[in-house]
Amino acid sequence: MVNLSSLNFFHNLRADLKNRQFAVIGLGRFGRAVAFTLHKQGYDVLCIDSDEAKVAQILSDRIATHARQLDSTQPSALREAGVFEQDTVIVAIGNYVQESIITTLNLKEGGVRHVVAKASSEIHMKLLQKVGADHVVFPEHEMGCALARSLTKPGILDRFELDPEHSIVEVITPEQFVGKTISELRLRSNYGLNVLAVSQDGKFEINPPPTKRLEKGSAMVVIGANHCINRLPV
Ligand code: ATP
Repeated sequence: MVNLSSLNFFHNLRADLKNRQFAVIGLGRFGRAVAFTLHKQGYDVLCIDSDEAKVAQILSDRIATHARQLDSTQPSALREAGVFEQDTVIVAIGNYVQESIITTLNLKEGGVRHVVAKASSEIHMKLLQKVGADHVVFPEHEMGCALARSLTKPGILDRFELDPEHSIVEVITPEQFVGKTISELRLRSNYGLNVLAVSQDGKFEINPPPTKRLEKGSAMVVIGANHCINRLPV
């Protein structure tokens, strides 16, 4: 869910789009995926792990240009490696809660502007927020929720949660809506939903007119309360 503090975080990130430099601390599956994707997009990524083998592996796989073996609980080691000069640092240490908390604290005390940390439990998440993480992700929890939603509502292709009660969703046009116009469906009065866009063959029509007829294989982007969205026929 994108809550207000996450929104602020991404807003601040957008203000600093130039000269982005990243460091990833912890080269498990998650950290490697973050580093790989950043590197593929052409960004400079400094990869760090206390395990020499993980550092060697990331270099031989050419996932990063720079990689260092160090213990991130040591502020002097982080300083010496230039981590405090990075614009955004991702703490991808999930299982070692103490190490993850100390590392996050070190980074904020060292002046890193954007610190993203990975949590492995609710309490871990709270602790990371307390020590100043700017954005906390909890991938196992988030993926679990997303999977459950997609299993029970297979018609929902994508969801953007505005707050706990309201969302914008992309839904496959329900069978019983096909062939009808938006005004005929009276989605606002019947379902409490507003149509923002209709897509057909991968192209979106934004703010479709009420006369827009929904075709088979199309998708609609609607905004409204979750309980209204849940009433849509699947
Ligand atoms: P995955 O992403 O595979 O799910 P995980 O979240 O379970 O991993 P961990 O296994 O806890 O993460 O740790 C990820 C990496 O962090 C490991 O490679 C580990 O060596 C590294 N690591 C742990 N403590 C430190 C530390 N103090 N300094 C630097 N790296 C560390």
